[in-house]
Amino acid sequence: MTLKREAPTNSMIVNPSYQCDLSLNLHKPDLVNIDAQSWFLCCCIPSKAKFALFTVGLTREKCVPGPTISAMDKILVGAHVSIAGGVMNVFENAAAIEANFVQIFTRSPRVWKSSLISDDEAFSFKAELASGRSGLRGLVTHAPYLVNLASPDPEILDKSRAVLVENFQSASKLGARGMVVHIGSHKGAGLEASMAGIASSLRLALESVDGPCRILLENTAGQGGSVGVSFDELARIVEALNNDDRIGVCLDTQHLFASGVSYGTIEEADTVVGAIETKLGIALLGCVHLNDSKVSLGTMKDRHENLGQGLIGKEALSNLISHPSLLDVPLVLETPGGGEGPRAMDINTARELLRVGMARRGLEVQL
Ligand SMILES: [Zn+2]
Ligand SMILES: [Zn+2]
Repeated sequence: MTLKREAPTNSMIVNPSYQCDLSLNLHKPDLVNIDAQSWFLCCCIPSKAKFALFTVGLTREKCVPGPTISAMDKILVGAHVSIAGGVMNVFENAAAIEANFVQIFTRSPRVWKSSLISDDEAFSFKAELASGRSGLRGLVTHAPYLVNLASPDPEILDKSRAVLVENFQSASKLGARGMVVHIGSHKGAGLEASMAGIASSLRLALESVDGPCRILLENTAGQGGSVGVSFDELARIVEALNNDDRIGVCLDTQHLFASGVSYGTIEEADTVVGAIETKLGIALLGCVHLNDSKVSLGTMKDRHENLGQGLIGKEALSNLISHPSLLDVPLVLETPGGGEGPRAMDINTARELLRVGMARRGLEVQL
C-alpha cells in the first residue's frame, strides 16, 4: 500500500514481523515510525489540510499485513551510507550494498552551516521507508564530528548545541531510531568539569523533539580526552539525564578494543555484554558500530579497518555480536571497504560473522 499525500485515506501499513505497543499515544500529525522494537505503524485519517494520526480504536485485527520478512532479514545489518544528491538516495545506496539498515549524516559532518531536513523530504522518506518496498528496515543518523558537548570553550559549546538540536530534529523527522553522537573532548579539563555542559546540551536537544527518537551516546577510543571511553563514563551521563528513556548508547567495536577491552574469547565477550547490562542495561543499546581495528588493543586510537582484516579479527568480532542479548541490535559498518565505504561483500562478511558466532555458541542459526 502506498501513502499518497494528495489523497489521504483511512490507511495503515503494519509490518507483522515487528512488535508494537499499540497503546502509545500517537498524537502528532505525521507519519510515525515506532521503534520500541518495533512495528512500522503508519496510520492516518484525513483531516482538513493534512494527515492526522489515527489515535483510537487501533487493534491488531485492523492492521494490514506488510511484506513477509525472512529470518535473515530480521537481523539488521547495514552501514553508513551517503545522502549525496538527496536523502531519498539512501534507499538505492542501501540496496546496492545489500543493507537492510543504514546510518546517515543528515548534513555535512565537517561544517557548522545549518541545514534542517525539510518537511517534504521527511514525508517522502518516511512514506517510502514504511512501505517496505526498498528492503530498508530502519536507520540511525550520526551527528557531525564537530560537535563537542564537553568543550571548555563556551563558543564551541554554543555552536555544538545548536548543531545537536538541529540534527536531532532532522533525525526525528526522518523516523530514525536514534542519532549517534560523539560526546566530545574535555581537552584536559576532566570529565567533572564538562559534565554540566554535556548534560544541559543533551537535555536541550531532548526537549526540542517530541517522539521516540533517541540520542545514542557512542563509546570512544579514549583519544585526546574524549568522553565516553568506559561504560562507567557513559552511565554517569545517562544518570545525569535522570535515566531519560530517550538516551541510549551506541557501542563501537573498534573503539572498545582500542580503549583496552578484549573480547577474543566467548568468556571475554560475555563479560563485555555483562558489563553493559550491569552498568547501562541492554535496552539502552541502540546500535553497534561493527568495525575491525587498524590499531592494537589499548592504543586509544580511532582507526577502523575492514572486518577480518584488522587486529580484532573475525573470531573476536563474531564472539561479541553473536551474544544472544545483541541479536536484536542493528549492526552498522563504518569500514573503509575499497576506499568508498562498506560494500555488499562487507555486509555479507558481517552476516557470516553472526552465523559463525551463533554456531560457536550453539545457537540456532536462521540466517
Ligand atoms: Zn562509530
Ligand atoms: Zn570510530
